[in-house]
Amino acid sequence: MNEDEIRAAIVAAVQRLDALGMNRGSTGNCSHRLGAGMLITPTGMGADELRPRDLVWVGWDGSLRGDWEPSSEWHFHQAAYVARADLQAVVHTHSIHATALACLRRGLPSFHYMVAVAGGDDVPCVPYHLFGTEALSQAVAGALRERDACLLANHGLVAAGPTLARALKVGQEIEALCEVYLRALAVGEPALLSAAEMVQVKERFARYGRARRAD
Ligand SMILES: [Zn+2]
Repeated sequence: MNEDEIRAAIVAAVQRLDALGMNRGSTGNCSHRLGAGMLITPTGMGADELRPRDLVWVGWDGSLRGDWEPSSEWHFHQAAYVARADLQAVVHTHSIHATALACLRRGLPSFHYMVAVAGGDDVPCVPYHLFGTEALSQAVAGALRERDACLLANHGLVAAGPTLARALKVGQEIEALCEVYLRALAVGEPALLSAAEMVQVKERFARYGRARRAD
């Protein structure tokens, strides 16, 4: 995608998250890798007023291009791209169920096979750190080296991927899984799939992915 297409895709993603109820007001943010930096949503701007030209480019050296200040959470987006060369997009939300679970400082264990959508047997919850800090950036980067999503204690959800569509899909799936997990926890302790069972899921996902690419 060229820069104009990336800008349009980010605005569409923000509007999608808003329509899904995953972000409200100006919470949450989206970014996409571009050149020696990334395009990211500006701080304090809601989905209804965001335009493609409002997005801010932040270089890896911290240089800025745009009319607005970037999201105050741009640091962990940057840390994610530096940690994973394959990542092209990062989505961050304060969606209700992921955030509720994160406030318990719990991640998702292998209670449902779709947990593997994030690339492993669980979705970790990283320890609480103040937004915008290097400590939070390093915690997110550490988790995303192993997974495509993580929860942030007392904060929210981060999902990433090789495309913005994939990052959105993973974020949406993790939010839904967090809702199911919380409902199951309200009744009892959910049974967990074994490591061997999760290996089978990941093998099936890999085959499915290859079949799709061959279409
Ligand atoms: Zn946040």
